[in-house]
Amino acid sequence: MVNSSQRFFYSPLMKKKDCKRCKKSFTKMYRVRYIESVKNWVFMCESCLLEVKQDNKFYKYGGTWKG
Ligand SMILES: [Zn+2]
Repeated sequence: MVNSSQRFFYSPLMKKKDCKRCKKSFTKMYRVRYIESVKNWVFMCESCLLEVKQDNKFYKYGGTWKG
């Protein structure tokens, strides 16, 4: 017999942000600056971050965001 009062509680859906570079959504993002002319921080996924930080003197890490 199925107990109709039984409920499954799913953990709330994690928020996602779109990666500035690859436009995919992630639940974990890195706040970075990587272009001299860009005054604002942008959110980027880990793989993009690893690419842009290479030999980038403008690269700055501003923290990690979790959805
Ligand atoms: Zn990305």
